[in-house]
Amino acid sequence: MVKVVKFGGSSLANANQFKKVAEIVRSDSARRYVVPSAPGKRFGADIKVTDMLYACYDAIGEGANAEEEFRPIVERFDGIISALNLELDLETEYGTIVRNFKARAGRDYAASRGEYLCGIVLAKFLGFHFIDAARGVKFYPNGEFDADLTEASLQVLLDKHGKAVIPGFYGAKPNGEIKTFSRGGSDVTGSLVAKAVRAALYENWTDVPGVLLADPRIVDNPKVIKTLTYRELRELSYMGATVLHESAIFPVRTAKIPINIRNTNTPTLPGTMIVPQTDDNPTLLTGIAGKKGFAVINLEKDEMNNEIGFLRRILTLFEAEGINFEHIPSGIDTLSVIISGDDYKSRPGLIDRITKVARPDRLSVEHDLALVAIVGRGMRERRGTATRVFASLAHAGVNIKMIDQGSSELNIIVGIKNDDFEKAIRAVYDTFALSE
Ligand code: ADP
Ligand code: ASP
Ligand code: MG
Repeated sequence: MVKVVKFGGSSLANANQFKKVAEIVRSDSARRYVVPSAPGKRFGADIKVTDMLYACYDAIGEGANAEEEFRPIVERFDGIISALNLELDLETEYGTIVRNFKARAGRDYAASRGEYLCGIVLAKFLGFHFIDAARGVKFYPNGEFDADLTEASLQVLLDKHGKAVIPGFYGAKPNGEIKTFSRGGSDVTGSLVAKAVRAALYENWTDVPGVLLADPRIVDNPKVIKTLTYRELRELSYMGATVLHESAIFPVRTAKIPINIRNTNTPTLPGTMIVPQTDDNPTLLTGIAGKKGFAVINLEKDEMNNEIGFLRRILTLFEAEGINFEHIPSGIDTLSVIISGDDYKSRPGLIDRITKVARPDRLSVEHDLALVAIVGRGMRERRGTATRVFASLAHAGVNIKMIDQGSSELNIIVGIKNDDFEKAIRAVYDTFALSE
C-alpha cells in the first residue's frame, strides 16, 4: 500500500516541526511519497518563505542588493539545517538562485525556490530521494497545466524510487521555465502525486484538526467534519474554505483516492476523510463557507421573459470580457449577474457595453456583496433547511440580498452585505452545529 503525504507550510515552519513531520512519516512505512510546502509562519507576525521570496525578487528588480535581500531566506533554511544537525551545505544552491534572480528568471521561479529548498532539506532529513518537481509536473508553453504529460512523467520518475520527496507548488514548461500553481498549490501537487502512484490514500497534513464546519478565524472552535464527499469539499473549498486548494480535488477524484486532512500537531486524531461517496447518515449541514467582495449587476426589462436570446447576449459579452460569473439569479423580467468585485473594477465601461447589448429598462450595480454557502448532502432528504437558514439570518439582523439553491440540492447560497459576513456565518453555525 502507498500513501502520499503532503505537509503545509506551518507543518514545516521550523526544525521542531520537521521532527514532527519525520515522526509521522516514519511511523507508517506506507508513507512513501512526501510533498512539502515552503516553511510557513512560526508565529503570528512571521512571514512565510514564499512571501519573503516574492518580496526579495521584487526588491532586486528595483535595484536592491541581491545578496543582502536574499540573506534572510538563507538564514531561515540554514537555521533549520543546523538545528537538525544535518550534513548539508546549500551554498551552491543559494548562489544559483541569487544569480537567477539577478537574471530575472521570473516571479514563479522565485516563489518556487521555497518548496525546492525545503524539499532538499526534508529529503536529507528523512533519507528519501529528492525529485525536482520541474521534472515531473508539466505545463504547456502557454502556462496551462498539462495533466497527461504530468501523470506520465511523474509515474516514470516515482516508479524508480520507493521513497521520495517531491516539492509542491511548481512545475515547468517544455523550455524549462518554472511555473507555479496559484497560492496554496502544494495541495494540488500532492493530489497529482497520489494519482500518479495510484495511492491508497492522500494524507494532507496541516495546522487544523481537519475540515472544520466553519472558518476557525470566524467561529470559535468549530466542530470537525468527520466525513464529506468530494462534491461537498469542492463546494466548500471553492467558496472559501481555504484548508484545501480548490483544484486539489480533481486528480484524486478521477482515481477515487480518498483524502485525509490531518493535524501535524495532534497526529493521533483521525482528522477528516474526503471520499467519493458515503452511506453515513448525513447531518443536515456539512459545512459553511463564504467569500467577500462581489459585485451584482441588476438588469430589468419589461417582457424580458419573451425576449429570446437575451441571456445569450449577456453571457456572450461576459465571455468576450473574460469575466467569470458566480451566479445569475433571474426573475420574470429581471436578471442579476454576480461577478467578483475585482473583475468589475478592472473593466471600466462595462456598464455601457452591457447597456448596448441588452438595452435594459433599468440597470443598477451593487457593491460589497458577500456570498455564504451552506453545504450538506443531507439537505436533499430533509425539509425546512432553507427556512432555518433564513430564520437564523433574520434573527441576527442580516438582510438577504440574493438566494440561490444549486440544482444538486447540495447547497444554499445567500448573498449578503460584506459587513454582515462574519455575523451571518456565526448565526448559521449556531443554528445548525449547536443543535445537531
Ligand atoms: P497549509 O499551510 O497546511 O497548507 P493553510 O493555511 O493553507 O495550511 O490551510 C489551513 C488553514 O485554513 C487553517 O489554519 C484555517 O485558518 C483555514 N481554514 C479556513 N476555512 C477552514 C475550514 N472550514 N476548516 C479548516 N480550516 C479552514
Ligand atoms: N508555498 C505556497 C504558498 O504559500 C504554496 C503552498 O503553501 O501550498 O502559497
Ligand atoms: Mg494550504
